[in-house]
Amino acid sequence: MSNLLEVTGLTTQFEGKKGPLTVVDQVDFTVKKGEILGLVGESGCGKSVTSLSILQLLDKNGKISSGNVFYKNIDLVQKSEKEMKKIRGKEISMIFQDPMTSLNPVLTIGKQIGEVIEKHEKIKGKEVKKKVIELLKLVGIPRAEDIYDEYPHRLSGGMKQRVMIAMAIACHPAMLIADEPTTALDVTIQAQILDLLRSLKDDLDMSILLITHDLGVVAEMCDRVVVMYAGQVVEATDTRTLLRNPRHPYTVGLIQSTPHQSKGEKRLKSIVGQVPAPDQYSKGCRFANRCPKAMSICETAVPPLLEVDGQTSCRCWLYEEKEVGVL
Ligand code: SF4
Repeated sequence: MSNLLEVTGLTTQFEGKKGPLTVVDQVDFTVKKGEILGLVGESGCGKSVTSLSILQLLDKNGKISSGNVFYKNIDLVQKSEKEMKKIRGKEISMIFQDPMTSLNPVLTIGKQIGEVIEKHEKIKGKEVKKKVIELLKLVGIPRAEDIYDEYPHRLSGGMKQRVMIAMAIACHPAMLIADEPTTALDVTIQAQILDLLRSLKDDLDMSILLITHDLGVVAEMCDRVVVMYAGQVVEATDTRTLLRNPRHPYTVGLIQSTPHQSKGEKRLKSIVGQVPAPDQYSKGCRFANRCPKAMSICETAVPPLLEVDGQTSCRCWLYEEKEVGVL
């Protein structure tokens, strides 16, 4: 499979009181055509800022300070806001965690989806309405003709997320970024939305960048996974390898803290402590103060992203034989 999206050395900073804070630090990954790539980590790891950087939707105090985001071999970082407006929605779309805050409460469902179509396609009036109703049916909304004239508050959380998905796929984007798309939904609805995303990916031949903190979602959905911690990529591999043979102590901790992995145990395991804020990163490994395997080198030297067994990249001194001497 060829690459649809290639992120290289992406670094995003925000203005802080004492100077710029690096929230995404030299992040590299690719999304191939037709695959689902999972971007995983706890809150505050930089996953969402990475996705907002790809689409240049950062707040005013944030900026991409270095790196590239190649989409179909064109660097989006070099694009103007006017050019990005043509790419967002048409080429790359995004859905967010909370559909209620993403939908406009004073516009009908039909109007909101129709606006996306009118922005990117040269159709109007009845043609737009016909397409909106087709989209509502495609995402599994019953009574699509009636829902067309409804306001968002009349819909359940699951239905709202289906509407958001309809808006996101309205112009057949090649790539969908889904930022925690099921986190705000009931468990039973979560499975339905994941099923819908998977079938739309196949039917519309899309790629998906799926941002999640939930390794259960990763196991269900993703072909490959990139794990982020404190703004950096700490492990990247295929999903099967990650779940069966995690290398980075942080990934091991994430897997051990998922409920199904702790089945039979009285208490869930957890990773002690919290993700450090960008102004509190240590000189060495950013995971060192939470890591059960930390060594003296971890406190003083930043571990590079190392290749392990030819299929996994891992940012951990445990895999650097030359420096540490043992594995
Ligand atoms: Fe733990 Fe050291 Fe590896 Fe960091 S580099 S994850 S502190 S063993």
